[in-house]
Amino acid sequence: SKEDVQAFFKKNAFVLFTVGAVVVGVVLGFALRPYKMTYREVKYFSFPGELLMRMLQMLVLPLLVSSLITGMAALDSKASGKMGMRAVIYYMTTTFIAVFIGIIIVLIIHPGKGSKEEFGKQQTIEQVSPADAFLDLIRNMFPPNLVQACTQQFKTKYAKRVVHVTVTVNESLFNSTNVSQEVVEVSREEVIPVPGQVAGVNALGLVVFSMCLGLIIGNMKENGQLLRDFFNCLNEAIMQLVAIIMWYAPIGILFLIAGKIVEMDDLTQMGGQLGMYTITVIIGLLIHAALVLPTLYFVITRQNPFIFIAGLLQALVTALGTSSSSATLPVTFKCLEENNRIDKRITRFVLPVGATINMDGTALYEALAAIFIAQVNNMEMNFGQIITISITATAASIGAAGIPQAGLVTMVIVLTSVGLPTDDITLIIAVDWFLDRLRTTTNVLGDSIGAGIIEFLSRHELQSRDVEMENSIKFL
Ligand code: ASP
Repeated sequence: SKEDVQAFFKKNAFVLFTVGAVVVGVVLGFALRPYKMTYREVKYFSFPGELLMRMLQMLVLPLLVSSLITGMAALDSKASGKMGMRAVIYYMTTTFIAVFIGIIIVLIIHPGKGSKEEFGKQQTIEQVSPADAFLDLIRNMFPPNLVQACTQQFKTKYAKRVVHVTVTVNESLFNSTNVSQEVVEVSREEVIPVPGQVAGVNALGLVVFSMCLGLIIGNMKENGQLLRDFFNCLNEAIMQLVAIIMWYAPIGILFLIAGKIVEMDDLTQMGGQLGMYTITVIIGLLIHAALVLPTLYFVITRQNPFIFIAGLLQALVTALGTSSSSATLPVTFKCLEENNRIDKRITRFVLPVGATINMDGTALYEALAAIFIAQVNNMEMNFGQIITISITATAASIGAAGIPQAGLVTMVIVLTSVGLPTDDITLIIAVDWFLDRLRTTTNVLGDSIGAGIIEFLSRHELQSRDVEMENSIKFL
């Protein structure tokens, strides 16, 4: 009846607006392409989108810190330890499955043909050694300056310098009668690692700090109550800000998507290997997001995964629009807590961590892309190299920040680990803006389904601690 239809629209207005925004954004973008806007005009046109990005990013820091601290403080250390364990197991398992799918799919479809001509010009990309990248990951866990951690992260850079070395020359080599040694000085050029900083939130460092602080505050009995109340209220206040921004989100998403479509390069080059590559990535991500993750959710919780995913629609669309799982975090919170009714003790704990380290889409992508680049270079990867790729791709996805195209940067590690040319990353840059959006959506889905599964597995802890929890923290 008419009332039913009205009620349906009222209830789902948000979702309809958001999905509508994507459709209108795509149509508008393609409609405007023939006008060949200048770079400046595109920037003006996408301004409403840029604003959304900025608003969401504005909330990430206070949201991440306050939710982790309250999340940790609300659980006793035994419960949080168990949940942490489950989270880590879930993150590891799903990331490895993702990598596995990426590798299998790219080996079967074999999108690379062993010729680089059709890709056009290449640029030089800075080398990173896998060892340095690994140490950077750990360094970033311990930011020496918390204020700086809000704006910068640590990254080893490389510099060329001339080093002097002394070499002992044994003269007997040249002259068999006169045995003596001579020391000579030679100089050679060497590439050395130097400490550096790059722009961007050091989310990993803030996560580690907030978790530890939350754990301590949770153990502080009455003395900690003030801090618990403070962070709890801060968290709630930020979530109310999120609710306001959500009304603006559809407009922002519309312009983010339309602007990008207006701006993108012509699709003519998509015919050859790059086109096949794009399709391969899409198939891989689809298998993981639409098949593996829902199946896992169903097997563990015995509930309909697609109803769960329907509740996440807005977060998924925001991920598609912003290509940043960090920026999407506020929306992910809102969807999980309000639509899917996930316990706040779970979301506050696992979502900030998930958005920072659990990136299934990125892991799948990095492994797949590395093997594609090997194929283009006509290099066969042996079994050992494929194992190396799967390990480094996992590490690279953990190290990648939740910001647009971060995965492309950490791919240098995967390539160097198996001796592939890092400059070849530029081969796939043309399509990365698009694939980035898809892998970000997969990343957000992985985090959210993880929250659902961990809540289910932790239901006993959550129940048995309920009364005590009520006393220590009031969930507003
Ligand atoms: N943009 C992705 C994210 O925010 C990271 C990546 O580039 O893969 O999740």
